[in-house]
Amino acid sequence: EARLQEAKDSIRDVVDFPKEGIVFKDITTMLKSEKHLNTLVETLYQQYKGKGITKVVGLESRGFILGTVLAYKLGAGFVPVRKPGKLPAPTYSEKYSLEYGEDEIFIHQDALTADDVVLLHDDLLATGGTAKASIDLLNRFHLKNVFVNFLVELDFLKGRNKLNTKYEVDSLFHF
Ligand code: 5GP
Repeated sequence: EARLQEAKDSIRDVVDFPKEGIVFKDITTMLKSEKHLNTLVETLYQQYKGKGITKVVGLESRGFILGTVLAYKLGAGFVPVRKPGKLPAPTYSEKYSLEYGEDEIFIHQDALTADDVVLLHDDLLATGGTAKASIDLLNRFHLKNVFVNFLVELDFLKGRNKLNTKYEVDSLFHF
């Protein structure tokens, strides 16, 4: 569809960010457009409405942007997955490896229950480390069902293979 193609084309490549050799997909050039923002929200809403989603889980921090809007549109609640030292109450956590070293993500233990149907959302799937850790976090809750959504997937990094999940995984844009 033309509107989606235009939105995709508005994503900016930033060379050597955050370090040399990386071409960073900058979605701020897409989000600042009221037209593209509308296209993104409406497309994702149409895709996920009627699936019984009760909570949208957004990954810090770009996953908070559309995650919250989608939660509102779907009539669901919003739950943040956060980096170390941010969540104040008891948490579950998962470690995952980065190119150099480790990182860890957290979710409040009382954020979800087994009755929830979750839409996990982040802006971008790269190597899949973050998303894999997030799915492992969600598995602690024995949820009814999970849908996994990214705005952008970098197909050449094959992050999807790492997810190794029974859940439906979908990305709006592929590079
Ligand atoms: P992964 O764990 O899949 O390697 O990296 C995905 C995480 O890093 C996501 O939370 C995403 O926000 C961030 N990320 C990695 N590369 C990019 C990029 O090129 N553009 C944007 N917007 N985020 C990225």
